[in-house]
Amino acid sequence: MKVIKFGGTSIGTVERFINVVNIIKNKCEEDKIIVVLSAIGGITDELINAVYYASEKNNNYLKIAEKIKSVHFDFLNKLIREPIKEQIITVIEKIITELFIKLQGLYQKNNVSPKDKDSIISLGEYLSNNLLVGALKSIGLEAKFFDSKNFIRTDSTFGEANVNFHLTNKLIAESFRDIDRTIIPVVNGFVGSDEQGNVTTLGRSGSDYTAAIIGAALKADIVEIWTDVNGVLSADPKIVENTFPIKELDYNEVAEIASFGAKVIFPKSMEPLQKQNIPMVILNSFNPKDKGTVVRNKSSESSDIRVVTSMKNLSLVMLEKQNSKESLGILIRLLKILSKHKLTYLLNGGTILQQSMGIHHFVVSFITSSLTVEKLIKEVQNEFEYELKSSIISKIRVLNNVAIISVFVGNKYRHSTNIRRIFETLSNNKIKVHLFFHRSSIEDISLVVDQKNEEAAINLIHNELFFEEIKKLEANVA
Ligand code: ADP
Ligand code: ASP
Ligand code: MG
Repeated sequence: MKVIKFGGTSIGTVERFINVVNIIKNKCEEDKIIVVLSAIGGITDELINAVYYASEKNNNYLKIAEKIKSVHFDFLNKLIREPIKEQIITVIEKIITELFIKLQGLYQKNNVSPKDKDSIISLGEYLSNNLLVGALKSIGLEAKFFDSKNFIRTDSTFGEANVNFHLTNKLIAESFRDIDRTIIPVVNGFVGSDEQGNVTTLGRSGSDYTAAIIGAALKADIVEIWTDVNGVLSADPKIVENTFPIKELDYNEVAEIASFGAKVIFPKSMEPLQKQNIPMVILNSFNPKDKGTVVRNKSSESSDIRVVTSMKNLSLVMLEKQNSKESLGILIRLLKILSKHKLTYLLNGGTILQQSMGIHHFVVSFITSSLTVEKLIKEVQNEFEYELKSSIISKIRVLNNVAIISVFVGNKYRHSTNIRRIFETLSNNKIKVHLFFHRSSIEDISLVVDQKNEEAAINLIHNELFFEEIKKLEANVA
């Protein structure tokens, strides 16, 4: 059995949607499948905007909701035939009405809770999934919508809920037991529910996670993630022109590059699969013949990963002290603040902490989302009010608009000159590195640069370290 997931980019236009329907048609002839689907590309962003406007009492939310409605009806009219069309129109109208009612509710309310937000931003998946069921039925296939709210059980951390695997695995087994091979289950990604039955979401791009959770619970042979690129590439092709694909990766490597900005896969997706040793393959729905990237258990000796990633909209905060006396106490108090905000690792607004200590100087730095940095700084200033007044802490410096560039080079390609070459190429091009840190080993490094230099820095590093591969690619093209 295969779990096959399609992202929003794979169904972004009617033509792309039809392409996905054809892929599913071929797949279900080969094997038993479960389909997981995201919202149509851009719709979740629009829903978030609508929530924002409604909560600000700005009528623009109505325009956005109207646009969402017209996009889905346009798809519906082009994808779905009578007599199925009638049924799907009823379902889509019901979801759209729910959207308007909920947004109106927010408009009248004074405080928008994360719970309200999740119940609205999850609607994009309900819309696209019902369109897919209709489109599959229109070509004579038997498809049925399976609402993941009924079997992905989470805590109540709205916006980025944590899965209760014990309950979820049981519920998935029950929900998918005895399903006839002729029926294609279509499951909404991204969505779950807490113990009280409130809708929760798993985090932006979380549909990959839904597919992995279902794949692991049902011990699928493989989980296929269909997106718009030939698997994991050496960098984001939207930033670097001459990227090349990485054929095979280990679960840990994928989790790490995803946590450090490779948007192609949701970082947490690796956990359930790794536990069950279920392979994942990342494929291109625009180029279905390509083999993509296979993710499975792999020894680190044979690692041939070569990837540069980046994350932006970050701030670098540096707390400086004249001498190292009592530094540990300061570090502990700072950690308490960061852990209160759950900023323990850099994933969707988390934090990386770095300290450097000499006898005469102590600096502790952390990197955090620019969105929340002001609030955090105020808390840090309150905590260290005495130390700041009495100059025990000389200053707190904040550098906004920075990006983290992370370099991943597997054992096969490690070379003692790599790090020197990275620094040389950046310095030759007058790109200042504000901070650099090792991740798990000396060779695994990340650099903090000004955001305006993000794209140039990635291109320079990619070119410098992966030059051979790029030459090979160019020779093949010529
Ligand atoms: P989907 O809608 O299928 O979930 P996403 O937009 O979430 O697609 O992820 C695919 C995108 O990830 C690609 O279009 C690409 O721009 C981006 N990306 C970032 N880094 C990488 C990388 N190293 N390899 C491949 N794609 C990457
Ligand atoms: N639709 C959701 C998002 O845009 C989930 C996903 O695409 O995986 O974040
Ligand atoms: Mg995605």
